[in-house]
Amino acid sequence: MQLIPMLQRLIAANSISSVNSSIDQGNRVVIDLLANWLEGLGFTTEVMPLADPRKANLIATLGSGPGGLVLAGHTDTVPCDESQWRHDPFKLVEKDHRLYGLGTCDMKGFFPLVIEAVRHFVGQPLKQPLIILATADEESSMAGAQLLAAAGRPRARYALIGEPTGMKPINMHKGIMVEKLVIEGHSGHSSDPSLGRNAMETMHSVLGELLTLRNELRDNYHNPAFSVSYPTMNLGCIHGGNNPNRICGQCELGFEVRPLPGMDMAKLQETIRERVLPLQKRDGVVITIEHYCVPAFATAENSAMVEICESLTRHSCEAVSFATEAPYLKDLGMDVVILGPGNVEQAHQPDEYLALERIQPTIDFLIQLIGRCCL
Ligand SMILES: [Zn+2]
Repeated sequence: MQLIPMLQRLIAANSISSVNSSIDQGNRVVIDLLANWLEGLGFTTEVMPLADPRKANLIATLGSGPGGLVLAGHTDTVPCDESQWRHDPFKLVEKDHRLYGLGTCDMKGFFPLVIEAVRHFVGQPLKQPLIILATADEESSMAGAQLLAAAGRPRARYALIGEPTGMKPINMHKGIMVEKLVIEGHSGHSSDPSLGRNAMETMHSVLGELLTLRNELRDNYHNPAFSVSYPTMNLGCIHGGNNPNRICGQCELGFEVRPLPGMDMAKLQETIRERVLPLQKRDGVVITIEHYCVPAFATAENSAMVEICESLTRHSCEAVSFATEAPYLKDLGMDVVILGPGNVEQAHQPDEYLALERIQPTIDFLIQLIGRCCL
């Protein structure tokens, strides 16, 4: 199958992943399409199911032995607001030298380019294996990458993740900690404060503690490789109470921290607890904090993969503030660089697209990369 029809099929398969179960979809259709196409090119494929039977990872291997290269990407997309799109997000539309559709840029669009590049090596004996890795749930829980980490697979010397970087190599990114903090107080009639425990008043103190911590993080950590050179904290959403004449019985806050590489996330979470939990006793409320996090990432110094990608693209490596599956692949022993054809500005946006002019340079880059790593 040719590149555009392949991309059409991938975009038509809704593979939205979300922590909101009412819009969460599986990725099996995408995984099965890729497995089918890659088997046709001589790959050995292994579908690795997740706990949710609608979801799976794919490990497709050409050649064998130690070393080699993993070309990796996620097959899920973020949810989309269809009413803000000019076209159907699940229909590939070519217009103005662009390919529009949900996942064209981030990042189902990477796989047909990989398959085009791979065609050049069919029938050529590879000295080291070439592995195509397609994962599930990158946009929601990282469950696919976590399953790979637990299984200890795949193994290879090098890995490239085709996330949207505008064809520039990325060797460093921040982590993401998403925190959900819930204060359970006790509601009661507003006329007498002693009848309840006001969760919103405790939240006022929590916000004060968090903003103090935010400023400390900003002042104490610094990495000039990032355009925002310090760890950030964003207070994202807050909900609480239901009427002016009731004591606020429950209040919850969603916030996010983006630590720099090298920062200990477990310690940071402990610090948040130390600052916030003493308010329970003071105010007679219960505070719970749920975490979800992706570690920060930096390639090892003297990374050979950085050198290869810099020489092939003639771009120096850069740092970005979005998180990827790179730390999981690095933990599996791979030398990882992130580089893909899309632009992050078009990711997670209505009218997401991949520019046609990016396609051939990406295929050419991948052919050279496979040649350097596998022949
Ligand atoms: Zn992505």
